[in-house]
Amino acid sequence: MLIEKINKYFESQKDRERDRKFHVSEVGNCDRALYFDFLGYEKEEIDAATRMKFHNGNVSHRKIVSILLGCNDINVVGAEVTIPENDLITGRADLVVSLDNQLYVVDIKTIADYGFNLLSSVSDISKNYIYQIQLYMHFLKIPNGIILFENKNTNEMKEFFISYNKDLCEKLIERMKNLKIKIDNKIVPEKPYDLEDWQCNYCRFKKVCYGMNNNIDANNDNNY
Ligand code: SF4
Repeated sequence: MLIEKINKYFESQKDRERDRKFHVSEVGNCDRALYFDFLGYEKEEIDAATRMKFHNGNVSHRKIVSILLGCNDINVVGAEVTIPENDLITGRADLVVSLDNQLYVVDIKTIADYGFNLLSSVSDISKNYIYQIQLYMHFLKIPNGIILFENKNTNEMKEFFISYNKDLCEKLIERMKNLKIKIDNKIVPEKPYDLEDWQCNYCRFKKVCYGMNNNIDANNDNNY
């Protein structure tokens, strides 16, 4: 009855049209998957249960933002703060707050119990999350950041201070520039050497990717 209708609703949800710029949140993704996404290659559908999971994540996220906005002791300078316009990368930081006259970019993550329990220092944080907050700090010119984690199973929280790393940001931007050149010239990027198996397992482009050779030129029909 109702469950069937809810599933149908989530199944009817389509992916949003691809932005023509990289989003800050995808800079840690596989170059090859980004290439396929930009060029509109066929990708696996997302099932209703996974869409429900994303929806729950968004709801938790909004809940934490609204709590922070209501805290008298926190001076929220901005929520959903868009980075300055540029040709390559777009994105919005969750919050910018002022604490003891110091500005901080705040990024909120709601994660499952297993990953949450593994977090005890900055070195335990996924590189994707680090790249994301670093680029927000870079574009917003704020050298301090906080990643705030919520355990979606228990609602416990942990926070980590992140300081700006200029070299890392410049390398990430350079990588994105090179990837854009490959996309414009239809040169399929190599599979990143540091990719872990689980990333390919979850990738929506694995079918098309596995059907290709590594380091190939998509203009060449012999590649397929
Ligand atoms: S299957 Fe793996 S290597 Fe291929 S696009 Fe996806 S993440 Fe990248």
